[in-house]
Amino acid sequence: MSDCIFCKIVKGEIPATKIYENDNVIAFRDIKAASPEHVLVIPKVHKSSLNDFDHNDQLLLGELLLTVKKLAQDLGVAESGYRTVINTKDDGGQTVHHLHLHLLAGRKHSWPPG
Ligand code: 5GP
Ligand code: ZN
Repeated sequence: MSDCIFCKIVKGEIPATKIYENDNVIAFRDIKAASPEHVLVIPKVHKSSLNDFDHNDQLLLGELLLTVKKLAQDLGVAESGYRTVINTKDDGGQTVHHLHLHLLAGRKHSWPPG
């Protein structure tokens, strides 16, 4: 989508600190880190939120989750632990309307979230 900031990151039109990329997904550092490690994992295809996925997207959803796991290992936080978050629409706290998984690590994360 032309006015989507994450689509612009996918296309290289705005800079991001990318830490992983394959044919289907990319991962980059959040511009306003909420934890010592804060990475966003997104599909290259534009999907506004989890609401836009269906059963045809099962492989892509699995790949997104497995990418979080791989990056947690690469970042050395798999064993200490990490928080994985998907915010959906207003009440979920979603501010960028291109689905993304947050990988948060490097500190203790409390529950319930705010
Ligand atoms: P949400 O609130 O939608 O779940 O999370 C959006 C996240 O995207 C926020 O943590 C925010 O800091 C991050 N973000 C917003 N704009 C940019 C940007 O241009 N570059 C990067 N790397 N992160 C961004
Ligand atoms: Zn997009």
